[in-house]
Amino acid sequence: MRATIFEAPGTISVVERAVPPPGPGEVRLRVAAASLCASDVRVYRGEKYAKPGVVPGHEIAGVVDGVGEGVTGIDEGARVVICPIVACGQCRFCIVGRQNRCIARKTLGYDLDGGFAEQLLVPAEIVRVGHVLPVPSGLPMDIAALTEPAACVLNSLDLCALGTGSSVAIVGAGPMGLLHLLLARAAGVGPIIVSEPVAARRAIAQRWGADLVLDPATDDVAGAVKAATGGYGADAVVLTVGVHALVAPAIELVRRQGVINMFAGFPPHQTVPFDPNVIHYGEINLTGSQNATTDQYRRTLAMFAHVPHIDEVITNRYGIERAPEAYSSRLAMDGLKSLVEFPGVGGA
Ligand SMILES: [Zn+2]
Ligand SMILES: [Zn+2]
Repeated sequence: MRATIFEAPGTISVVERAVPPPGPGEVRLRVAAASLCASDVRVYRGEKYAKPGVVPGHEIAGVVDGVGEGVTGIDEGARVVICPIVACGQCRFCIVGRQNRCIARKTLGYDLDGGFAEQLLVPAEIVRVGHVLPVPSGLPMDIAALTEPAACVLNSLDLCALGTGSSVAIVGAGPMGLLHLLLARAAGVGPIIVSEPVAARRAIAQRWGADLVLDPATDDVAGAVKAATGGYGADAVVLTVGVHALVAPAIELVRRQGVINMFAGFPPHQTVPFDPNVIHYGEINLTGSQNATTDQYRRTLAMFAHVPHIDEVITNRYGIERAPEAYSSRLAMDGLKSLVEFPGVGGA
């Protein structure tokens, strides 16, 4: 089969690789679609670790084409998505359903081979913890490949404790900022305020239902957020851009006792100065979020049918032989989500 390989920062290639039949407890997939994550781009840039020689891709939808001995409840031909987290199932985090914080966690696409390949051998540990999830009938496989990023957004919205009529300020309208907008909109959150310097992305945010769209280059973002929230500030602020200089300004957007979520990952070895008294006197909850729980994956799959514009998040599609272009298009900020796809697999 053909597979994309991360060789070293800056080097992605497409090679021929053998895929063995599934061993005990394992499941083999024919990949239908796998989307590229901002964190894959961070690996490419050398800002985040991945094992040299690994097949990248952790946002995966596919069709089961082999089932190992002892696997029950997963049949050949089933359309599935993968939660890429290998969790121990036994640590304090796993036993409360927070496999994404497992102390022994490994992840497909970084430590173990992921989905930018024709086929994928799903490790027994992933199968055992229920991280092979069925795709609802009628849901196209390209949308199903967005389950991982959308589940990450659901985790973010859950941590922000946003309900119907809660206000949120989303910093950045890249793919993940816009996914926050779509899921928050579908959940009845509002007003939704988006801050984004790129005009084309502001236009998308406007078209997809943001109540207020701001240009940080020309607008007084903190003043506008306060004005749109009765003078209080937003109930929650989500930072979807990993730029250190945006952290302190983001803290100014939240109301007292509100939540600020560092959704984005940041380049390493830099710190951020901010006034801790703002957190102290405001009783502000400063948190981060990364990946999602198994239940959030399940809820995401159930929710997709009720999220307008979700199909428009995918703007760039490549066959496996053009997988390196998925990286270059994201580096050039050309479009939103890039997909490596195998048309026809799973009825996509
Ligand atoms: Zn991702
Ligand atoms: Zn664990």
